Amino acid sequence: MGNKIILPPAMLGILGGGQLGRMFASAAKNMGYGVTVLDPDSHAPAADFADVHLCKSFTDVEALQYMASHCAAITTEFENVNADSMRWLAEQGVPMSPSGDCVAIAQDRIAEKTFIRDAGLDVAPFLAVKTSACLDGDLSAYLPGILKTARLGYDGKGQIRVKTIDDVRFAHAEMKHQPCVLEKMMPLLSEISAIVTRTRSGEVTCFPIAENEHENGILDVSIVPARIKPELAERARQMAMQLAEKLDYIGVMAVEFFVLEDDQLVINEMAPRPHNSGHYTLNATLTTQFEQQVRAMCGLYPGKTDLLSPTVMVNLLGDSWGEDGSEPRWEVLMTAPNTKLHLYGKKLARPGRKMGHFNVLAASADAALEQAHAIKETL
Ligand code: ATP
Ligand code: MG
Repeated sequence: MGNKIILPPAMLGILGGGQLGRMFASAAKNMGYGVTVLDPDSHAPAADFADVHLCKSFTDVEALQYMASHCAAITTEFENVNADSMRWLAEQGVPMSPSGDCVAIAQDRIAEKTFIRDAGLDVAPFLAVKTSACLDGDLSAYLPGILKTARLGYDGKGQIRVKTIDDVRFAHAEMKHQPCVLEKMMPLLSEISAIVTRTRSGEVTCFPIAENEHENGILDVSIVPARIKPELAERARQMAMQLAEKLDYIGVMAVEFFVLEDDQLVINEMAPRPHNSGHYTLNATLTTQFEQQVRAMCGLYPGKTDLLSPTVMVNLLGDSWGEDGSEPRWEVLMTAPNTKLHLYGKKLARPGRKMGHFNVLAASADAALEQAHAIKETL
């Protein structure tokens, strides 16, 4: 194993077959690799690009055995995959990127925020609420704040905003007293993210910083380059790369930051996989975040990450489809020469469901943003 490089047409495995798995599979297939996807959904978006789709749960012993004996390396696209399944695969001698241990940290906000703080990187003040008894002391340092479940939160779900101690107790009861973090509400100027790649031999690269705007807790647009001072963007890149080093991380990971007054940066969270805010790389950098994922797991050198053009990425949620399931007016997008549409092949368009995204490449981020909004409104 060690630092041996894995070349095409080797079979690569991925745990999870959503849109991130689909774009990974597409990148891997283009590079000449085979792809095996494990996902319990028979309509998993990644299955369209996979040689083999194991339609089984993430703990299915036979499916895991199949992956261990057929895949030269395995990655994931889904942070709530069973970390013990990943550790078991590693014990069978399959190179795993990331490791089950890194995924386990990212799965649990208490472990994650504690790790980041102990790595010497800034996070918002937080209290680990392992049991209700943790709420007995003085909570004023965390209020007003947000109570977030330690596990299984995404797109702003599993979070309750709290102002008083009574609010906190009530919110914790709402969350059935499960482990949570109580985090101080920060005055955000903006939100940005970094996508880092670290390879088996320890090379680290970071894509240009994206500035992210959310709507109803879901990423709406990413603007690249982020409209912040270059020094601040560079600091975010350095922090993200440091975190990858401290984790001894192998693979692609995303780090989300809050930008505060006085050029302060705090890390919000990490994702042990490519990220929605990195989808601009599909068209705006020489290497995509999914090709980087392939390169990292295969022990190859990371590809160049320079931005070729300012870009705005817009998420397409099911809300853009008609109530009768009718498609958006794709011609609006398809006839604009500087836009790129990416659809995930999902049959059912539910409100809030990520169906696809488009990238607008223009001379400046502001010009791209203006055009992106105009397109979204007419779709
Ligand atoms: P996602 O899946 O989109 O990453 P999530 O469920 O993991 O979301 P967070 O990233 O923790 O949740 O929070 C969602 C959003 O809520 C953040 O992007 C930010 O806008 C806001 N938010 C979270 N924590 C804080 C905070 N401490 N202060 C201010 N705003 C916050
Ligand atoms: Mg988040």
